[in-house]
Amino acid sequence: MAVLYHSTRGGGQPVSASEAILKGLSEDGGLFIPDSIPALDKSIKELSEMTYQEVAYEVMKLYLSDFTEDELKDCIRKAYDEKFDTEVIAPLAEAEGAYYLELFHGATIAFKDMALSILPHLMLTAAGKNKITNEIVILTATSGDTGKAALAGFAGVKGTKIIVFYPKNGVSPIQEKQMVTQKGDNTLVVGIHGNFDDAQTGVKKIFSDQELTDRMGKKGYQFSSANSINIGRLVPQIVYYVYAYARLFREGRIAQGEEINVVVPTGNFGNILAAFYAKNMGLPIARLICASNDNKVLYDFLSTGIYDRNRPFVLTTSPSMDILISSNLERLIYWIAGGDADKCKALMAQLAKEGRYQVTEDMKEKLTDFYGNFASQEETADTIRRLYEDCGYVIDTHTAVASAVYRKYVQETGDRRKTVIASTASPFKFTRSVMEALDGTKTSLGDLELADELSKLANVPVPRAIEEIRDAEIIHDHECEADRMKRVVEMFLGI
Ligand SMILES: *Cc1c(COP(=O)(O)O)cnc(C)c1O
Repeated sequence: MAVLYHSTRGGGQPVSASEAILKGLSEDGGLFIPDSIPALDKSIKELSEMTYQEVAYEVMKLYLSDFTEDELKDCIRKAYDEKFDTEVIAPLAEAEGAYYLELFHGATIAFKDMALSILPHLMLTAAGKNKITNEIVILTATSGDTGKAALAGFAGVKGTKIIVFYPKNGVSPIQEKQMVTQKGDNTLVVGIHGNFDDAQTGVKKIFSDQELTDRMGKKGYQFSSANSINIGRLVPQIVYYVYAYARLFREGRIAQGEEINVVVPTGNFGNILAAFYAKNMGLPIARLICASNDNKVLYDFLSTGIYDRNRPFVLTTSPSMDILISSNLERLIYWIAGGDADKCKALMAQLAKEGRYQVTEDMKEKLTDFYGNFASQEETADTIRRLYEDCGYVIDTHTAVASAVYRKYVQETGDRRKTVIASTASPFKFTRSVMEALDGTKTSLGDLELADELSKLANVPVPRAIEEIRDAEIIHDHECEADRMKRVVEMFLGI
């Protein structure tokens, strides 16, 4: 059965999966969602005997129904290869009785690689299927990790250009160095004077600029998005939840049909939404535990039903979650509105205008699958230290937010179900904050020396992604004001 995608705001025509991937965002500013969430058509036992790539096919085929089997398998093979430093792609590590699902074994050592290593292939295949001859221009706002992962995915890919905007003072030194050393004639990296929300808002504005779109079309360009609102990112993220469950089953850690909890350190709400989709496909997940840092807009929303971004933006030690506008939440709002696009549209209009909205009691009641809490920076650092002292396992700051929130959840509820914690970055990506938590005496060292110290402490080799930037030349040194982003795009494209 063909799955079609329509907008959460009700505008535009339904489109195929490949069209939705190419467009990124619907014309009315809404997000694409499938008409219904498909059910898994393989048993957990069958899935447990499969490789990551095979599970990826079984999950993704249900959503990307206009891709042929060969096309999809080809994309999967090209994505999940030696770029990952482990054959299982997403290993599980047990610590303090929870299972850390390590999503950071790809090229840029953050979980964004899980989807962004396949997105370029999905997009090029989609372009071919839709007879697109324009060059595709990927425009991306990043809180640090998407940027590098998208650059790594698209650099040197014929028929594409990629432009990345990041908050100049809102990413870790290693994140910044990873981006500004990116090679490839088709890449541009720009630091903006503003925060992530400014970058994201700027990108959305450029996307909806019809005059610019027309001018680009005449020059043979069209925009697409590598941001987490693209269903080409959401769908590959569902895979690892299914895979993790199947592995736990295979290893005899859970029984047939046993429900587990999932904890996700959350920013733009993409990763946890993928877990929600997995649950609605039939995967036995009980609670979805949404972990925030000091930018706890989602915690407040889940506890009060009021979403309010009118608050100070806090720069924390988990910068990839420093977000006040969680774009993917719109898909959940649509869901709890019972598929009422007008209701969703009205709330999003209110968010754009007043920075705030409140859902109805009815809608709030449908959020019971979710539990939200947050961890302060101090709690985050304490968690890194405690886990290391307890079992020698070192986690990054984002994962530590999740781990700290999980502890609060267990204390509050006594729920002892087996739990998977999404481990979204390697500790080497946030070395300084991790080392400050572990050993305050070394912090006068540079970031790369700190990585060597961390390697000794954690007894883990320094990842290739860090070795690569040690002596890498800085290629991109552009900066701009947030209101000049459009001009930067025009100059890069020569239009
Ligand atoms: C992007 C990111 C997150 C947040 O994921 P969302 O899908 O935006 O909620 C968490 N941790 C790390 C390390 C990330 O890069």
